[in-house]
Amino acid sequence: MASGRVDGTRRLVYLGLGSNLGDRDAQLRRALAELESPKLRLLRTSGIYETEPVGFRDQGWFLNLVGEFETELFPKQLLARMQRVERAMGRERTVKNGPRVIDIDILLYGTSVIRAEELEVPHPRYRERRFTLAPLAELAPEMRDPVTGRTMAEMLGALKGQTARRRSAE
Ligand code: ADP
Ligand code: MG
Repeated sequence: MASGRVDGTRRLVYLGLGSNLGDRDAQLRRALAELESPKLRLLRTSGIYETEPVGFRDQGWFLNLVGEFETELFPKQLLARMQRVERAMGRERTVKNGPRVIDIDILLYGTSVIRAEELEVPHPRYRERRFTLAPLAELAPEMRDPVTGRTMAEMLGALKGQTARRRSAE
């Protein structure tokens, strides 16, 4: 399996964060702060995007961003850490794709391709979602999807519909 390493030890991961309940800005900031650790270092964040809900549409708009991290955590360690942060922030699992104070997804983990029950990377739906591709294309337009070989910019350019307005850079 591809290790996803950029060099000997360094792996770049892209995490998608979203919130549509409560103080959405504060929750994105808090999640980024709680995720950071010596083994999960935040390098850059995209701007914040206001996005219309996809799937279950009768709910408030989301704020979304993507964080670029460098990590020594293995994918499942990273997932466990993300889920701890979601729980600490009061995330309740109710309706699939429904309202949530915070959602954290692994979009890409280096060039790794993982197909396990509890973890699929690249994230199985990120290629069709403007709220993930717009911030990814902002951070790394020429980066290629490890499965399809397409760049973030190409995939974003091919999308139709779905509103995502870039609101502010942080
Ligand atoms: P969603 O993000 O699809 O709205 P959840 O956040 O409730 O739903 O996640 C449901 C499950 O998705 C998690 O328990 C996790 O095991 C699984 N999962 C699979 N692939 C990923 C991924 N790439 N990133 C985050 N979670 C994932
Ligand atoms: Mg999720």
